[in-house]
Amino acid sequence: MTPEEFRRYGHRIIDYIADYRAGVAARPVMARTAPGEVRAALPADPPVEAESVDAILADLDRIILPGLSHWQHPNFFGYFPSNGELASVLGDYVSTGLGVLGLNWQASPALTELEEVVTDWMRRATGLSDAWSGVIQDTASTCTLVSLLCARERATGYSLARGGLQAEAAPLVVYTSAHSHSSVDKAALLAGFGRENVRHVANDENYALRPEALEAAIAADLAAGRKPCAIVGTTGTTATTALDPIAAMARIAREHGLWLHVDAAMAGSAMILPECRWMWDGIEGADSLVLNPHKWLGVAFDCSLYYVRDPETLIRVMSTSPSYLRTAADEKVKNLRDWGLPLGRRMRALKVWFLLRERGIAGLQQRLRRDLANAQWFADAVRRAPGWRVLAPVPLQTICLRYEPAGVAGEELDRHTQNWADRVNRSGAAYLTPAILDGRWMVRVSIGSLLTGREHVEALWTIMRQEAERVV
Ligand SMILES: *Cc1c(COP(=O)(O)O)cnc(C)c1O
Repeated sequence: MTPEEFRRYGHRIIDYIADYRAGVAARPVMARTAPGEVRAALPADPPVEAESVDAILADLDRIILPGLSHWQHPNFFGYFPSNGELASVLGDYVSTGLGVLGLNWQASPALTELEEVVTDWMRRATGLSDAWSGVIQDTASTCTLVSLLCARERATGYSLARGGLQAEAAPLVVYTSAHSHSSVDKAALLAGFGRENVRHVANDENYALRPEALEAAIAADLAAGRKPCAIVGTTGTTATTALDPIAAMARIAREHGLWLHVDAAMAGSAMILPECRWMWDGIEGADSLVLNPHKWLGVAFDCSLYYVRDPETLIRVMSTSPSYLRTAADEKVKNLRDWGLPLGRRMRALKVWFLLRERGIAGLQQRLRRDLANAQWFADAVRRAPGWRVLAPVPLQTICLRYEPAGVAGEELDRHTQNWADRVNRSGAAYLTPAILDGRWMVRVSIGSLLTGREHVEALWTIMRQEAERVV
């Protein structure tokens, strides 16, 4: 494709996406595609001869679009929001179009330095002290893995330079809540701790980790000759947005010399609101933290911010310095390849920079406050309705609820809950995610898509009541 052809089709693609965003509300939120349907509509072999862009765009419309669930839809209440503000989308295009890579500082100096600037902007915007240094990773899963690798190495005096974990005398133990994200267990397993050495510490009635239970678990492991290594706390758990007591966990981590990593993947965006910062009170006592601006904040996926207090540990664990990557500038600059797993680095900072400049922190704060108010309105409506229950505190924008009609309990209630949620989803009018809480199915309503206003939340409440109260 020549630059002139790119110009022509590029304008069409921008129009295509602008039309998509302008009209997304008219589409069914959840894809109605059967498994295998999209694959079956596409040829098994790649084209041997070149095809026209028109042919590609026609298939995009005919085959791909109908096979999508629409995350930017105003009636998307599933999982957590993954907002791609259009300003950020433009920043992402620029990054891809420029096609530069940051293998080291010299490979694209502005790539590294803009990343330093935007991670610092976000640090200031979220009220973190200047003791933190940030870097952009792809996802929270990666950040948590990197943290547990650093924790493992710090606890073993950098065993990777010797016999590694395999030469350690005592097993290392990781502590987290039963409500932490599945990526925490995955990271612990991949970092070599082993399932037997991952403790799921008990939680309180608000689904937050109980510090006394954490202390007891550490004491039991010490007594058994094991080596406590790391604690992973969560600000805003996935099922219920529960808030682990970070200050108490930081005190325990300090007392025992453990690494504290805080997963604020979802709730981290809310820290641009000063009134929300109590939720991670004690955060300055952590060793590392992750927040995902690619969720609620609006940076186009993927963009996960990883902050550490001691970059030396991170660099010591992650650095490689083959001759072809060394440069004369190395002493004076950051080489971000030493701050995570991949060598190659996209210019993700552009999409953050575009978003923060085009919206302003005040604009982002306003949208998040709108969503918090909508969540409170919705929770109140549910609490007041006969037979309906809100099952967990609502500190943010996610409401966990269940309709419990008289005389329906146990597995019958589970079937009822799953059925009505499924009917709402299949109607195309809204998209919700059912999940299990305390062994029973419930429904999560996660508010916060870019286009979601009060009217969409009201419409959701109407359709939920219609479907749930209709048949029992
Ligand atoms: C979304 C989420 C994750 C996973 O995020 P990825 O960036 O997709 O890996 C982890 N933890 C919490 C609390 C989350 O909300």
